[in-house]
Amino acid sequence: MPSKVYDTAIIGGGLAGLTLSISLAKQGYSVVLIEKEIYPFHKVCGEYISLESWDFLEKKIGVPLSDMNLPIIKKLWVTSPNGNSLYNDLDLGGFGISRYTLDNTLKNIAEKQGVTVLQNCKAEDIQFKENIFTIKTTQQIYYSKVCCGSWGKRSNFDVKWKRIFTTKTSDRLNNFVGIKYHVKTNFPIDMIALHNFKDGYCGISKIEDDKYCVCYLTKASNIKNAGSIEKAEELILSENPHLKKLFANMERLYQAPVSISQISFSKKKVVENNVLMLGDAAGMITPLCGNGMSMAMHSSKLASISISAFLQNKITIQQLEKTYIKEWKTNFGTRVKTGKFIQYLFGRKSITNVFVMIMNKSKFLTKKIVKLTHGKSF
Ligand SMILES: Cc1cc2nc3c(=O)[nH]c(=O)nc-3n(C[C@H](O)[C@H](O)[C@H](O)COP(=O)(O)OP(=O)(O)OC[C@H]3O[C@@H](n4cnc5c(N)ncnc54)[C@H](O)[C@@H]3O)c2cc1C
Repeated sequence: MPSKVYDTAIIGGGLAGLTLSISLAKQGYSVVLIEKEIYPFHKVCGEYISLESWDFLEKKIGVPLSDMNLPIIKKLWVTSPNGNSLYNDLDLGGFGISRYTLDNTLKNIAEKQGVTVLQNCKAEDIQFKENIFTIKTTQQIYYSKVCCGSWGKRSNFDVKWKRIFTTKTSDRLNNFVGIKYHVKTNFPIDMIALHNFKDGYCGISKIEDDKYCVCYLTKASNIKNAGSIEKAEELILSENPHLKKLFANMERLYQAPVSISQISFSKKKVVENNVLMLGDAAGMITPLCGNGMSMAMHSSKLASISISAFLQNKITIQQLEKTYIKEWKTNFGTRVKTGKFIQYLFGRKSITNVFVMIMNKSKFLTKKIVKLTHGKSF
């Protein structure tokens, strides 16, 4: 028997992993959180968080959002590749905060709550035998009763376990990349813009201080065919006149953008090899919906309820897995499907031009679509 067995081991310290670790530690459980990077660090993300997460983050997790002077975003501006505009109020809306600040704040709260936070530590192998998980990392071996995978869009485990989305030919061909900058520019503080271009879209909205986040998703072929990120921005993104103006009038706050590749929106299994998947590791909503972060945190809340019942011996590990899968599908199944449909409509130049025209005529349809991709406060 190993000398120390944690109640829960969490692999990946993004929003899903960090909020789960805090929720469990607050209930008195021992938690080890394994993160391969060193906080604080930048992440590719539009950094617009739907307001459905505000109360969870502030009241349940303890992030002092009200004292952080963050922009509240209530207006949506969508443009088609040919430059046509659509404006709408966002019923629920969102707020802006960089992942650099938010993830680091959560890491500090986790440590205060007694979570063992390991940084610069990559998990490399997970085995489940005789009701104990053995997790091999680049630092040591850790043991736990429950193991959660909150390792994001794509990790070494996805490839190692040959998770379906890593082996699909269609996903390899439709390889998406994400690029992000923090910039200074002149833009309304209460608005999020989504500018479409051929095979992609670019968002801009305010975050903390006097900074804005500019983040886009596009097919890798766009960058490859243009020759570089800069060339793609000049030749493809700038075909949309609003993006051309934005790129000409923004001051980049760090030299090279943060980027990621091999993003997949295919279905994923919510539990694999007895590991509960959270956030993007369980399923990814298209960034266009601006709701992945709320889903990641909401999934951590669902997991914490089921894990707690298991750790109190109220349910078996099999019942824990079943309950979590059911809750995940009930809460996020429709949202993920709607997101995929919207991305399909926005993915093509001519369809997007027509779609923006139709949506312009029907505010009701626009509101309905936005609502379908968002959840309620949790
Ligand atoms: C271009 C783009 C724009 C987006 N814009 C928005 C937006 O505006 N609003 C929104 O709500 N959502 C947005 N999203 C989605 C959002 O970023 C994700 O849904 C969210 O970050 C998921 O959180 P997570 O905790 O699941 O994963 P992550 O935040 O990705 O965290 C995963 C962590 O696991 C770590 N890790 C991976 N493998 C290992 C390992 N083996 N060992 C140890 N650590 C490991 C990683 O270093 C990382 O820190 C966007 C996504 C993209 C791609």
